Amino acid sequence: MTDIIPAPPIPRVPVRGGATFPVRRIFCVGRNFADHAREMGATAPASKAERGTPVFFHKPADAIVTGDADVPYPPGTRDLHHEVELVVALGQDAPKGPLSREQAQALVIACGVGLDLTRRDLQGAAKAKGLPWDTGKGFDYSAPVSELVPVAEAGVLEDRTLTLQVNGQTRQHGALTDLIWDVPDILQELSMLYALKAGDLVFMGTPAGVAALVPGDTFVATLDGVAELRGRITG
Ligand code: MN
Repeated sequence: MTDIIPAPPIPRVPVRGGATFPVRRIFCVGRNFADHAREMGATAPASKAERGTPVFFHKPADAIVTGDADVPYPPGTRDLHHEVELVVALGQDAPKGPLSREQAQALVIACGVGLDLTRRDLQGAAKAKGLPWDTGKGFDYSAPVSELVPVAEAGVLEDRTLTLQVNGQTRQHGALTDLIWDVPDILQELSMLYALKAGDLVFMGTPAGVAALVPGDTFVATLDGVAELRGRITG
């Protein structure tokens, strides 16, 4: 059988050392830092016992922007926001059944830093009406991501911090120790809802300090000592 159209390209993220990571799905976690949950007007859980279940959403795989490329200012918004996030890449399919923390951690092959770009006005309007906020999150060029770093090279992530500078000024800074759900927690929760597979990326949620980006802004996102993402918003 012949395809009726040319097959769309598979988005790929460069991996340090020369390989590439083909992207299947992009899962994202909302409200995973208490300080950001509060700045969005949500109640942050007082303890792990009270954290409930995570908020998940998707971006299309072709929302990925790689190679420190320019990011075009998206249509349909007057309030594009940055959210700096840890990104983890899954290197194998999850086994059936509830995952142990060890099984969950073992799925991760590489990590990096990314931006969960958000059309905040569209998200806010949808939220206010109790409607889904896909158009606020899952748009073209909404997922710039750094080169991915193999886990053996990245080492233990728990002690790392995320930082976002815009035009040389620090906008966001947070420690991964402050994640409400850490990486194994999130993969365990996701695996109860979806069949996780090699090629999946997970954007782990953002610390406080989300704010607007405008055309001409330059940004530098870092996962300290591991990965860096640079880019510019174009008009
Ligand atoms: Mn986010």
